[in-house]
Amino acid sequence: MDQLPIFLNVAGRPVVVLGGGAQAARRAELALRAGGHVRVFAPKAGEDFRDIRDHAHLTVLAREPAAADVAGAALVFCASGDAAADRRLQALARRAGVPVNVADAPGLCDFIMPAIVDRAPLTIAIGTGGASPVFARLLRAKLESLIPASYGRLVAFASRQREPVGKRIRDATARRRFWEWLLEGPVADRVLEGREAEATAEMERHLAAPDVTASAPSGEVYLVGAGPGDPDLLTFRALRLMQRADVVLYDRLLGDAIMNLVRRDAERIYVGKRSKEHTLSQDEITALMIRLAREGRRVLRLKGGDPFMFGRGGEEIEHLAAAGIAFQIVPGITAANGCAAYAGIPLTHRDHAQACVFVTGHGQKDQVDVDWKLLLQPRQTVVIYMGLGRLAELTREFLAHGADPALPAALIENGTRANQRVLTGTLGTIADQAAAAAIKGPAIIILGTVVTLRDKLVAPD
Ligand code: SAH
Repeated sequence: MDQLPIFLNVAGRPVVVLGGGAQAARRAELALRAGGHVRVFAPKAGEDFRDIRDHAHLTVLAREPAAADVAGAALVFCASGDAAADRRLQALARRAGVPVNVADAPGLCDFIMPAIVDRAPLTIAIGTGGASPVFARLLRAKLESLIPASYGRLVAFASRQREPVGKRIRDATARRRFWEWLLEGPVADRVLEGREAEATAEMERHLAAPDVTASAPSGEVYLVGAGPGDPDLLTFRALRLMQRADVVLYDRLLGDAIMNLVRRDAERIYVGKRSKEHTLSQDEITALMIRLAREGRRVLRLKGGDPFMFGRGGEEIEHLAAAGIAFQIVPGITAANGCAAYAGIPLTHRDHAQACVFVTGHGQKDQVDVDWKLLLQPRQTVVIYMGLGRLAELTREFLAHGADPALPAALIENGTRANQRVLTGTLGTIADQAAAAAIKGPAIIILGTVVTLRDKLVAPD
């Protein structure tokens, strides 16, 4: 983060604006909307001030501002269009320790003005650290169309209930759940429709239920597939549950880009495994999930790819079910799908493969435990997960079982991520290529003639 976003209270406080043109008018108007007492220094407040000229808290002074004008101000805006004049006031503000913004001169600014979506009391501020104000504005336009005007009403409704609800639900966790229920459920619908009396009645009915105010509501486990790495590949449901969890159990396959989307104040527990040194055994992980859920927490078990694809999700839910813990399963894009798409290799194709099998190159008891006959079928694509560690051994076995050394092969490392690498070759060459390129993984291997399609589908760099 390049700058610290904050919401500043300027109500009743002096805000100094230098300039009489459009930029100055825009800043004066925002400061007035936030309740500031705005003093504009300009020979004349021009046409752009017409909507605010008669505002009770706007004063126009036809002189240069002096140190005394700046002292005690909440903020100073320099927007005169005259660089020297702006600079003089900027220096005064700096000396007085008052945060200053100079239009079109990010280097002189203590703060920059975000693009704003105003649904007061709901306010969204978007900044790009000065890198691209136009992008911030485009994003604002998107949000404007996404966020109904009535959301402001919903936030105002919640604000009025805050004190009474705080008195009735003492437990912080129970209270957060109540607010989530209120803001996402039928009460919110009523408020957004403008039927506040019905909303209040609905809320009262809910508050009367005995377990709403209880301090230990029953917990739940969310078994969520997070996809292969690009956060854009998360499902909406995954994101929703990631935002709702109290505690997250995660492993090494998940990058920061995805972890940053988990609710900020959720507790994070690393339960990752490397193929040799296990941090927590599978049984310990399952026991931990059960314990946390029994404490009433919403436990997010976040998994790379899809939870049921070589992810031991099946084993975990067996235990949860046996322990009587409620759970939800959210599918994710598995590595094979994500990597194939991002590498430009279709897994099936009318001219190449009518079938596709996903196998693990990592056997149960440290042995490659593969049905070679099943894999060595013509017109079939084979995707190998967890095969990097013994790629040389695997390819040797393939050849020993009669596979063609010229069979096209691809290896995709860090698929769908910014650091994705793709190697293409043949069954006979791919292990040496991986070693030469110092591939570390995670990586999948794709075998089959579909690999040759990549050259047609992917534009050269
Ligand atoms: N449940 C996961 C797979 C877990 S097994 C899924 O559905 O994708 C772990 C293996 O998945 C790794 O050894 C690697 O073979 C593969 N894998 C996971 N993410 C990957 C990625 N971004 N790029 C390449 N391979 C990946």
